[in-house]
Amino acid sequence: MKKVLVANRGEIAVRVFRACTELDMPTVGIFAAEDEDAIHRYKADEAYLVGEGKKPIEAYLDIEDIIRIAKNSGADGIHPGYGFLSENVTFARRCAEEGIKFIGPSIENLDIFGDKIKAKAAADEAGIQSIPGTDGPVNHLDGVLAFGESHGYPLIIKAALGGGGRGMRIVRNAEEAKDGFSRASSEAKAAFGSSEVYVEKYIKDPKHIEVQILGDEHGNIVHLYERDCSVQRRHQKVVEVAPCVSISEELREEICDAAVRLMKHVGYSNAGTVEFLVEDDQFYFIEVNPRVQVEHTITEMITDTDIVVAQLQIAQGLRLHEEIDIPEQKEIKIKGAAIQCRITTEDPANNFLPDTGTIDTYRSPGGLGVRLDVGNAYTGAEVTPYFDSLLVKVCTYGSDFSKAVTKMKRALKEFRIRGVKTNIIFLSNVINHEQFQTGEAKTTFIDGAPELFV
Ligand code: ADP
Repeated sequence: MKKVLVANRGEIAVRVFRACTELDMPTVGIFAAEDEDAIHRYKADEAYLVGEGKKPIEAYLDIEDIIRIAKNSGADGIHPGYGFLSENVTFARRCAEEGIKFIGPSIENLDIFGDKIKAKAAADEAGIQSIPGTDGPVNHLDGVLAFGESHGYPLIIKAALGGGGRGMRIVRNAEEAKDGFSRASSEAKAAFGSSEVYVEKYIKDPKHIEVQILGDEHGNIVHLYERDCSVQRRHQKVVEVAPCVSISEELREEICDAAVRLMKHVGYSNAGTVEFLVEDDQFYFIEVNPRVQVEHTITEMITDTDIVVAQLQIAQGLRLHEEIDIPEQKEIKIKGAAIQCRITTEDPANNFLPDTGTIDTYRSPGGLGVRLDVGNAYTGAEVTPYFDSLLVKVCTYGSDFSKAVTKMKRALKEFRIRGVKTNIIFLSNVINHEQFQTGEAKTTFIDGAPELFV
């Protein structure tokens, strides 16, 4: 692999360009017409308009045009980032057909983990407990009622192909099942192109804990410990912490071992994340994200690794430990603690509706222990309604969790963003909340704390 095209935009495109540059690989960017002035266009060594005449998001999903640009520019590797085509089997296959390296897991891995039902079956084969649920898809209301009868309520109906915290419906009793089932199926069809759903026991107040994995193409797999992503709003992550400060050493080891076992079982390669819900001392597998995640940054900070550089080297066929600067598992240690806040242009006073307009002031924090991964944020930038509302990720690092918290409070205070609304005050409220600072916050924390919204 000599030259890399990044089939994405915003902060993650810039993140990948940086890794490529450190490895002396020239970079190719793509941009939709609406992203003519976007930062990622100018951070690439060369950049081309993609999906001409298409709607903004569809431009970044235009597989054939992306392949055309890769071939014309001589890029022999494509990094898909997260979202967009990152988990798309058709895209990975088209890359392979054209002799372009898809920088991610194999087509077989994508196929298993793109479907949460298949993923749970793989976990089962590897001897890992998933959340009790139906073994396969539920095609009829009767299936929901039968599960409710045998396992009790509440239960959750989930889209097999779901993602991004969407396509889930909680059903609290048999009366709610009919409406829940029909809505879940039709929402799944509209959002993910398949109405297939399955049913799980709804865990009332879990923690969301996920394990970062790196695997090479020769069967070597390591974990880089866990992240606690329990601070969510409507099942979407808002603040992430690494490592989790409220689990025992034994539980940490068990969860990380289970994640490695699953990934070894499926012969996983490249970066991926195994997600679990944890209730008391029980942990249950929920899904695998077969790509780099938004929150990979905090794992990089506590393990002193560069996950994206490792992704590129793995895709070149290099070996962990020997050729890639990732030590053997027993040498990988957690050092300190890190927190990530996702700063978005969502307006907490207006039900988190994304705001748009021109940023007329942009001043960002810095200093020791502060990392910024910036999307299209600068004085004069235009925030359009077309894409995801993530503006900048701020991460802080400290020798322990409370020091990382102090730094995050300070970093959030330093921001001055005017012209568009942001969630910065809301994030400060979260960081200042006692439940967050004890490290005990569960997935229901935000939705059950109205004081955060003032
Ligand atoms: P997505 O792929 O859309 O991110 P996940 O399956 O990873 O969906 O779940 C996202 C979040 O939804 C979890 O972190 C958790 O807060 C909630 N959730 C999912 N399944 C359950 C469940 N069975 N019980 C309780 N909460 C759940």
